[in-house]
This record gives sequence, structure tokens and C-alpha cells, in this order.
Amino acid sequence: MAKMSPSTLRIGYRYRPTRLAPDYDAIVIGSGIGGLTTAALLSDLGWKVCVLEQHYTAGGFTHSYERGGYEWDVGVHYIGEVGASTRTRKMFDYLSNGQLKWAPMDSEYDRFYVGDKVFNAIAGKEEFRDNLVRQFPEEAHAIDQYLKLLDRSGDALSAFGMGRGLSTWMRWLLKPWLAWRLRSPFNKGTWEVLSELTDDPDLIATLCGQWGDMGLPPKRSPFMAHAMIARHYLYGGYYPTGGSWRIADTIIPKIQAAGGEVFTYARVEQILVENGRISGVEMKDGHRIDCNCVISSAGVDNTFNHLLPEDVATKSGYRRHMENVQPSVGHLGVYIGLKGTAKELGLPKTNFWIYPGNDYDKALDDFLEDQDAPFPIVYISFPSAKDPDYENRHPGTATIEIVAPAPYERFEKWREATWGKRGDDYEAYKEMLGERLMEHLYDKLPHLRGKVDYFEVSTPLSTNWFGGYQRGELYGLAHTRQRMQQDWLRPKTTIPGLWLTGQDVLTCGVTGAMMAGLITTLSLVGARKMGPLMKRIYA
Ligand SMILES: Cc1cc2nc3c(=O)[nH]c(=O)nc-3n(C[C@H](O)[C@H](O)[C@H](O)COP(=O)(O)OP(=O)(O)OC[C@H]3O[C@@H](n4cnc5c(N)ncnc54)[C@H](O)[C@@H]3O)c2cc1C
Repeated sequence: MAKMSPSTLRIGYRYRPTRLAPDYDAIVIGSGIGGLTTAALLSDLGWKVCVLEQHYTAGGFTHSYERGGYEWDVGVHYIGEVGASTRTRKMFDYLSNGQLKWAPMDSEYDRFYVGDKVFNAIAGKEEFRDNLVRQFPEEAHAIDQYLKLLDRSGDALSAFGMGRGLSTWMRWLLKPWLAWRLRSPFNKGTWEVLSELTDDPDLIATLCGQWGDMGLPPKRSPFMAHAMIARHYLYGGYYPTGGSWRIADTIIPKIQAAGGEVFTYARVEQILVENGRISGVEMKDGHRIDCNCVISSAGVDNTFNHLLPEDVATKSGYRRHMENVQPSVGHLGVYIGLKGTAKELGLPKTNFWIYPGNDYDKALDDFLEDQDAPFPIVYISFPSAKDPDYENRHPGTATIEIVAPAPYERFEKWREATWGKRGDDYEAYKEMLGERLMEHLYDKLPHLRGKVDYFEVSTPLSTNWFGGYQRGELYGLAHTRQRMQQDWLRPKTTIPGLWLTGQDVLTCGVTGAMMAGLITTLSLVGARKMGPLMKRIYA
């Protein structure tokens, strides 16, 4: 086993107080895609932005790490809507100055193992439909109805995003229109909507086979979040060529070009408020950075429960609002290294989703009650197979990743210990969980037994350590129906000078958090200044 030394794959500039510019137009807390998008767009409008990232490398969940000659991504397994000139693709092209390239996965980009049955998702709307009809010949009508709902969901999702970005009075003015756009079925639960279309539990299971992409199975999730994911991947999955760290690596130059910087090892301890308005931030080393505009991309839990002074968070009502949302579940990650290339080992460019049966909600209930119950969902990804450049960076090797849910409470007792030094009992627990997950891999690809050179397991404590999420949340706030109705989850806060961005503002996913960056910028600078920028992005 390779030694657990920190990764050497690092981007961003190490923070030192002496490296700060005398002043900044805005401070962004967190260098995930939400924070970087906001910073890059503001930079294009001439703002000098200081991005402060607590981790040793920039990118948030888009960062990658290297160990023992292998490289893994931590929160980017596939992105949709980048194979054609869509709004998503144009935004990535703009932010990265055309430097970020995308590699398509296999046309069967997701495979669902549901008990002893196997279903799949095929790239392309027609192909997806025809393939589903082949798998469920009796259900052609239901499948067509479902696809019609996905078509309609585009308007609902735009209205949802717009609602978050509008000023209070504009939102009030447009309330009837927004309500109409977000009417049934987009205000209903996923199971409710799908069970009106079909009685076939296997078809529902197949349509919901990507529930792990937003963290809640059908009886717990809003149909809008389901539709967002399903639409996003309808035309297949793509992987960033060169690894997911290339996302931040290609965006940072835009911020630097305007005189800004992305600092790593830069933990913000407190957001400072004076006379009721934002006055800057205090760093962990006690240094104070003055600025009257602070944009938090560190998640609303961190922002309102940890970074803002308690009296401000309480008086402004945000502590009360926080009672209406919950953290998403934590996760285990297994990072596997193999000798031999993806091609030699026959690794696919297809994600595997493994379920004990077609009742996803029951499986999750069972697992939450009893940790020895089968994992309700096991996701397996083959990053080195998806990245055409991987072999240039790590010749003769391949990587695999496994993700599965893991409630934070099961790890909480080791919370205070330092990364890499949490003790033998923690290591043994991780090892046991890792071995259980490895068996899922060997079950599907038995020829890999004996070929694994290295594996390590991350837990919700790793997400807390490296990503700053207090309870190791996989996707920030849980995507419940109640969360989708929280109007205060918007860029503009009621505390003058404090803004929000990132996955808690709209939805999770790299694209969701990136679009939150766009909406935050729009809210900050207004439509008049944003207009020409939007033209440049979407020309
Ligand atoms: C295992 C996993 C797999 C995923 N797979 C996919 C996928 O295949 N496709 C997809 O589209 N999405 C995927 N996602 C989701 C996606 O990665 C996230 O939704 C998105 O990247 C979130 O971006 P963000 O900017 O909102 O937050 P983050 O990327 O989490 O950024 C927040 C940043 O704030 C920093 N921070 C926190 N507190 C402080 C502080 N006090 N001071 C300074 N910095 C601070 C953190 O270190 C972090 O870097 C996955 C996520 C996970 C966990």
C-alpha cells in the first residue's frame, strides 16, 4: 500500500497575508465551481476578486488527487449537456476560454443492476426511448408520457432558477407566472408522478436509476430534482479530458487576469459584520481582510451556522430558516488503483449503479436502520477509462472509484482527530466497509480479483476535512421538496454585502452550482451590466 501522504496535485496559490492585494472588490469563500464561476464572471466585468479556499488545492468537489502514481476525481464522474452547443457547454467554454475539453462516455453511459435484473440508459432522446421500450414493451405509452414531462421540465427549471435570481419586488410581480410554470407535476414528488404514469416497479426503478446523482430515492425526492438530472444526462455523459481538476485549472486564469487570485490553505474563520453590514472576513490565522462584498460558496450551513456571528445569523432569521432544510447524507468513497491500462483491463466508459432490488426507498430505510443491511446503492465509476489523457499522465495504470451512502453519525466519534491519524479502530472500520464495497466490484467484474494494486477509503470525515462540510454532506443540503420551496435560498441575503452561491442556491451537480454562479453574478451587478456579458457567453 502506498503511504497516505497528501497529494502533490495542487492548483491555486498558497495563502499568505503578504500575498494579498491592498484591496479587493469582492471576497469569495470557497473555490468550488460555484465560487469560481461567480469570481470569473465578476472578473470579466472588471472586478478584482479574492477567492479563499481552505483546502490545499482549488476546485472544491471538482478537485482531483494523486497518490501512489494514481489519480482520482472526488466529485465529478460525468457531466451532461456538453456534447453539443448547449447553454451548459457555452458556459464551460466561456469560463475556460475554450481550454476545457470533453470526452464522451460509451453510448450506454449508465447501467442499472436492479436485484438480478439489468437495465441501462442510452445516450440520445430517441435512443433512450427506443431502448426503454425494448426493455418494457408494454410501457411505450408511459415512456412517451414521461419524456413529454421531461420536455416540459425545461421551462419549470428555468423558472425555478429565475425565481432565485430575481429581486424581491420582481419576484412578487412575477409570482403568478412562476407558480404557473412550477405547477403540477413539478411541485409533486417523484414517486407520485411516476406511479401515475406506470404500475411497473422495474420501469420506475430504471427511470430513477440515477437517484444517487441528487441523493434521494423516489419517495423522498421532488420530481423537479429528478427531472433536472434525467434531462441533464439524456444525451449522454462526458468526462473532462485531463481529469476533473482541469475545470478549476482552466477557470482560474480569468480571475487572475483581472488582478484577483485563488488562495489555498485559506480558511475563513468568520464573516465580519459591522453596523449591520458586511465588512470583510477574519482568517484562521487571525488576519483580517476588509471588503464590503463577501460571497459565500461554502454552503448555507457553514455560512449561517458557523461563519456569521451568531447574533447576526439569529436576528436576520437565517438560523430559523435553517430548521427547514437538512444536510444530505454522507458517503464512502473507495479509490482503487490497478496495474495495467483501462483497455488492457477491459474497463468500460459506463457507470454501474447497483441496487439490492427495485424498492429504493425501502433499501435506504433498511440501511439507515441497520448498517449491516445491504448498501441501498453502490455506484462504480471508471475514470481512467473515461479520460483519453489519463495514460499520458499515469502510463500503464488504471483507476476505479466506488461511492456508497454513509450516515455521518457512524463516524462522528472520530471527528476531532486529524486526517491520517484517526486510529486503528477507524482504519479497521474503513477497511471492513471498503472490503464490502470491493466485493460489489468483483461481483460485476470478476476478472479484476487479484489485479488491484491499491485502494483507500474515504468517509464523511474526509468530506468534512477536505470539503469543509460539517456533517460530511455529499451534496450540501438534501434535495427535499421542502428545500425546493425555500425562497431564502437565493444569492442576495438580507444582510447587506453578503451573497450566496454554489449548490445550495439552486441544486447540486457541477452544472447546478455553475449556474448558481451565473445567477449570483446577475443578482450582484444587475441585468444592465449582465446583458452584454450574457451576449458574450451565449453568442
Ligand atoms: C462523490 C460525489 C460525486 C459527484 N459526482 C458528480 C458528477 O458526476 N457530476 C456532477 O455534475 N456532479 C457531481 N457531484 C456534485 C458536484 O460535485 C457538486 O454539486 C458541486 O461540485 C458543488 O460545487 P460548489 O461550488 O457548490 O461546492 P464545493 O465544490 O463543495 O465548494 C465549496 C468549497 O468551499 C470551501 N470552504 C468551505 N468552508 C470554507 C471556509 N471556512 N473557508 C474557505 N473555504 C471554505 C470548501 O473547501 C470547498 O472547496 C458529485 C459530488 C460528490 C460528493
